[in-house]
Amino acid sequence: MIVFKNANVFDGENEEIIKNAAVVVNDGIISDIIPQCGIDFKDAQVVDLKGKYLLPGFIDCHVHFMLDEVPDKNRQMNDQSAGGVLFENADSYVAFRAVENARKTLEAGFTTVVDGGGVDYVDVALRDAIKLGYVTGPDYYISGKQITAWPSHFRGLGKETFGPWGMRNMVREQLYWGVDQIKIENSAPIRSVGRSLAKSAFTLEEMTAAVDEAHSAGLKVSVHARGEMPVETAVKAGADIICHGTGMTEKSIEMILERGLYVLPTLASPNPEPDENILNAKSKRVIELLKQTGEIQWESIRKAYKAKVKMALSTDSGGVGINHGENAREMLRMKKIGMTNIECIKAATSEAAKAMGFSDRGRIKKGYRADIVVLNGNPMVDLESVLNVNSVMKNGIFCK
Ligand SMILES: [Zn+2]
Repeated sequence: MIVFKNANVFDGENEEIIKNAAVVVNDGIISDIIPQCGIDFKDAQVVDLKGKYLLPGFIDCHVHFMLDEVPDKNRQMNDQSAGGVLFENADSYVAFRAVENARKTLEAGFTTVVDGGGVDYVDVALRDAIKLGYVTGPDYYISGKQITAWPSHFRGLGKETFGPWGMRNMVREQLYWGVDQIKIENSAPIRSVGRSLAKSAFTLEEMTAAVDEAHSAGLKVSVHARGEMPVETAVKAGADIICHGTGMTEKSIEMILERGLYVLPTLASPNPEPDENILNAKSKRVIELLKQTGEIQWESIRKAYKAKVKMALSTDSGGVGINHGENAREMLRMKKIGMTNIECIKAATSEAAKAMGFSDRGRIKKGYRADIVVLNGNPMVDLESVLNVNSVMKNGIFCK
């Protein structure tokens, strides 16, 4: 038995902090929360959290552990030959890098993540390695390969197909690998100069077939959508999660609200004010594209937020300039579009759990998994406290 004593608890839902509480953990489960607790827990491992804040472990609904599109030449060139061609053993390198990314993310307080697309099914192996304890990382949910309509924009990241039966076949291939969700790319990647984001990559017929096939296996469908038409096709087809949601109109927002869908706002993907590392590494044209799309992205998310669309924390880490382990910064970006501190924290805990259909986490609640993050400061008052992680527990075990 582990007891957190004198903890100021944010339970994932209620704005009111439970003061000086004891949170009792037994066999990986939160077994009790006792406010104003004066009990002297003998025979338990007691952790005194005086002055600290205890929250549900954070959840990131969109990462890419296999990717490291961070302009760091020392790291990037290691999987490519001098001519830029990928080495045949690049996947092994990707796997080792993913191990490091998993550890960093967990230590940042993220006890659960959903990967939006892996490389050559390395994510399948990583999920098992984490489960079996070979690798330290968050509880890890995967998409396998993204289903894409044209040649994949990252080697190994996507697999292309077309036609309703092609879609069904591709979903079945992902099922064979035992993925946790289906991810469909319904827009071109931003940084491919000359491609239109406005086109829906798949037709309604194709998308509907994929959704039907995924739902028949009990899996959710998450759709990368960066324009009005890609968003609306996904919604009409019955997809469950809209990823990015760039360029949503009043009509798209209305459709999303009607079906009660979650949007993953990925405000760093792209940020209208690109990081220094992007400015140093990308061409002028690509930087311009990122800026323009970032502006549309933030405007679209602002509109959706005002209309009360449900949102969950999602970084797209590993994508363009987004470092693994800096996932909590997304809460600060969400605040910038107008969300309150509590809304930002809920988006990273209880709302993220709801978006992904997890009923055993995202709260500090009796019977829930003991996924816990301890912060040095009060995030309700100072949201930057989410960057200052004191300790992390996953499933009842201390990881930091
Ligand atoms: Zn992504």
